[in-house]
Amino acid sequence: MLIDFHTHTTASDGTLSPSELIDRALASNIELLAITDHDTVAGYQAAATYYNLNPGQMRLLSGVEFSCRWSGATLHIVGLGMDCDHPTMKSGLRTMALAREARGEKIADRLEALGYVGALRGALEKVGSGQLGRPHFAQWLVEQGHVADTRRAFDRYLGRGKTGDVKTFWPDLAEVVSWITNAGGVAVIAHPLQYRFTRTKLCRLIVDFKDSGGTAIEIVNGRQSGDQVAQLKRAAAQYNLLVSAGSDFHRESPYGAQLGVELRALGDLQGVWEHWTAPKSIEVHS
Ligand code: AMP
Ligand code: ZN
Ligand code: FE
Ligand code: FE
Repeated sequence: MLIDFHTHTTASDGTLSPSELIDRALASNIELLAITDHDTVAGYQAAATYYNLNPGQMRLLSGVEFSCRWSGATLHIVGLGMDCDHPTMKSGLRTMALAREARGEKIADRLEALGYVGALRGALEKVGSGQLGRPHFAQWLVEQGHVADTRRAFDRYLGRGKTGDVKTFWPDLAEVVSWITNAGGVAVIAHPLQYRFTRTKLCRLIVDFKDSGGTAIEIVNGRQSGDQVAQLKRAAAQYNLLVSAGSDFHRESPYGAQLGVELRALGDLQGVWEHWTAPKSIEVHS
């Protein structure tokens, strides 16, 4: 059985529209799908509307990937199965939309200070129906010929610790976890190894996350080594966390993962999917 609890669409920085992602997931025989755009549920909502008109065998869950701050770092927390119309969730989403706008202006100011004039307008032109993020600035820098490709844009200007890595606008970990849990969703620490924390710091994060009401950890995110998955399985077992898994699909690429994760490969830990595997019906929160 294939599932996928971490995917992006054009509502944030993916390249497939919500309906294209649904079609791709159906063609890939995925049985459980969550759309988890950065700080917005617009992708999920558009996908749900589309899928309701032509329902198939797949179950679609609401999802989001919130940016937040913890101990000086930016983290991503995935929310699954929450009620997108819950007042706390709605106000959280509004907070994030405003934070993204203000952060985008600051990133642009910093790029302009380096001489890259027109960064804000240029990045906004790339956003389309999505929400402004660093990938849009990267696209603009590439298009302008300031850097050869996206990877270099992140390495030089936008990646961790670089001038465009603006994190001051994000809310604290505990706040975004509370938005998700108040709205009846499950909060998941996304790609825990991407933050490059020491083991001690990762354990400290897990403890704080659990204290805030978080209950799950992502043990598969895109392409990961067997060692990494095993390490995260041990952490999940040690801290009694549910496990989640997803491709973090953004686009068709020889480097990134394809949609879908094989459930059997995840072993016998208790998964977030157990909330949603039966009975099979479409679950739609508008
Ligand atoms: P933002 O939400 O604006 O902070 O942008 C984060 C997104 O940028 C991530 O979810 C990735 O899609 C993308 N990203 C982050 N680091 C890199 C990188 N080094 N190269 C390419 N894309 C990246
Ligand atoms: Zn992304
Ligand atoms: Fe992420
Ligand atoms: Fe993601």
